[in-house]
Amino acid sequence: MPGAPSSYEADVIIVGAGLSGLVAAREVMRAGREPLVLEASDRVGGRILTEEPLPGVFLELGAQWIGDTHHQMAALANELGIGLYPQFEEGETSYEFGGRVLRGEAFHRAHAQDLAEVDRVLRQLDAMAQTVTVTEPWLAPKADEWDRITVGHWYDAQGLSPTGRSLLEICTVGILAVPTVEVSLLGLLVNVVTCGVTADLLSESEGGAQTQRFVGGTGQIPQRLAAELGERVMLNSPVLTIDHGADSVTVTCRGGLMARGRQVVVALAPTLAGRIMYDPPLPGTRDQLTQRMPQASAHKAFAIYDEPFWRADGFNAQLISEIGPARMSNDSCMPEDTGGPGIILAFLEGENARVEGRWPAEQRQEALRAELARHFGPRAAAPELIVEGAWVDREWTRGCYNANPGPCGWIHFGHALATPIGPIKWAATETATRWSGYMEGAVDAGLRAAAEALADLP
Ligand SMILES: Cc1cc2nc3c(=O)[nH]c(=O)nc-3n(C[C@H](O)[C@H](O)[C@H](O)COP(=O)(O)OP(=O)(O)OC[C@H]3O[C@@H](n4cnc5c(N)ncnc54)[C@H](O)[C@@H]3O)c2cc1C
Repeated sequence: MPGAPSSYEADVIIVGAGLSGLVAAREVMRAGREPLVLEASDRVGGRILTEEPLPGVFLELGAQWIGDTHHQMAALANELGIGLYPQFEEGETSYEFGGRVLRGEAFHRAHAQDLAEVDRVLRQLDAMAQTVTVTEPWLAPKADEWDRITVGHWYDAQGLSPTGRSLLEICTVGILAVPTVEVSLLGLLVNVVTCGVTADLLSESEGGAQTQRFVGGTGQIPQRLAAELGERVMLNSPVLTIDHGADSVTVTCRGGLMARGRQVVVALAPTLAGRIMYDPPLPGTRDQLTQRMPQASAHKAFAIYDEPFWRADGFNAQLISEIGPARMSNDSCMPEDTGGPGIILAFLEGENARVEGRWPAEQRQEALRAELARHFGPRAAAPELIVEGAWVDREWTRGCYNANPGPCGWIHFGHALATPIGPIKWAATETATRWSGYMEGAVDAGLRAAAEALADLP
């Protein structure tokens, strides 16, 4: 009957065709069971989004790098036939503190004491992180104390100089994408622990989370996964309700599409998962958790030049600034052997994404050009093109890079983050116990949720 709502059957219904959902679906398919992926938007990939504004120039509006210990991502890229290339790092970083712009070496000389203090704090975080377990951080001996204070307040109490404190704020916001007063100290330690690296993760180099990129763009990964799944991925299908019994689910989408299955994997960031209506309603603690895990705020701006002129001047295109609007930047060019234009990626994170990110584009871009020129000289003031990627306005993401609970979130509600509720299993990078917040975490969570769903199939 024309106009009648469509109805589908599957063993496992997956909500969301981001990396986590697609990996989960493929795992179900590989186990000989039938998955069905329902994706709200008109494309797959979620927080992975590659654009090609000029032929052969791939800009990652979303996820861009993997690190040396992102083994599952490296294996996935290899399996899908996608090459990797190293992040360009040679040269000096430019620093802007206390009203002065200094090149790396000069900054390190002038601020040796401040940097030593920052290092002392990072080592302290390392020691504290060793007492936190990845799977149950709320059981850490000092969990109660650390989840009641914010990272910002703890940093304030460490006796840092203004420059040291400022540097630590910038680098931490570079990971969390929210001001440090919005995340508890325990929450920061959870980030350190799930990434399996020391607190160097917060240092200027991001401690190995950003060492390699994908030739031809990260977007190929979800696209190729979706191609393997074929018609099992349905776009433009925002899930509105999930009715669940002991071993059955009925999922309905805006527009009337209905799917019945035995298990459902919800592969959405917690806030978005909390916007679905569940019948029967989920336990209060799960809902309270999703009320307390806001999406962070990050905004990328790519400045494109005829060539990477900064390299000849001995810069690596990285800036660290307490003025902004970008607090950090880096070299975002195509692989060296393919040449191509010069591309600097400027990051607006946390408050900068919220404030300058809302400015009219012309005003923001003028401020960015002026800032890049302060660091990399007058040529930086005249990019041929600026391309920006804002995420707050995207209905099915509503912020990035990921989500962290606020103070007391871990100790009161952390247990509800990934614990299945009958046939409902939770994926998405936020639920991962390895590299949570990153693509690696999305894969990890997708595999875990698929295994949980498969184990519960008759
Ligand atoms: C700007 C930016 C930069 C980043 N940089 C990096 C990086 O360099 N390295 C790295 O490892 N990670 C990075 N990340 C993080 C990385 O992108 C994420 O960790 C990962 O892609 C998350 O995948 P996911 O499947 O868990 O969630 P998502 O990608 O958010 O997927 C969820 C999917 O669900 C869909 N959806 C939402 N609501 C519904 C609904 N009601 N019904 C149906 N579908 C729905 C969404 O459209 C989306 O496709 C970055 C992210 C951003 C945005």
